[in-house]
Amino acid sequence: MKYGVCSGSCPSGRYTSLNVRRLLRRARRDPGVLRDDTLWMCTTCYNCQERCPRGINIVDAILKLRTIAVHEGIMHDSHRKVSALLIEHGHAVPINEETMKKRKDIGLEPLPPTVHSYPKALEEVQTILRSCGFDELVSED
Ligand code: SF4
Repeated sequence: MKYGVCSGSCPSGRYTSLNVRRLLRRARRDPGVLRDDTLWMCTTCYNCQERCPRGINIVDAILKLRTIAVHEGIMHDSHRKVSALLIEHGHAVPINEETMKKRKDIGLEPLPPTVHSYPKALEEVQTILRSCGFDELVSED
């Protein structure tokens, strides 16, 4: 049986301090892992999970750990910022002037047919996020 296929397959691990094998092994015995910044370095690309020779649901475990962390008030700043953008704009990466111009240049409408074009749909997204408590969960307070 091969070991470390997960870490070896991890694109994020090439550029950050994330060692996914080490992170999950640590999670089994150390609740302090919830405060480990590397928990938030995973991009959820699923490379590790797809290639794991032992069929371990690695990304599902990372997402579960993040869920526990967020419920304990722990969240990486960058994820908190992305969550705030989602609440405000309905997109984790909202459109900007430059992208609108590029869209126009290739013959598209400046705004994509998403909540950017449908303010009523954005209100609905915000209602859903509020009603499930997402806004409070990710708030800095
Ligand atoms: Fe790395 Fe996360 Fe991708 Fe797994 S899902 S390979 S941990 S970035």
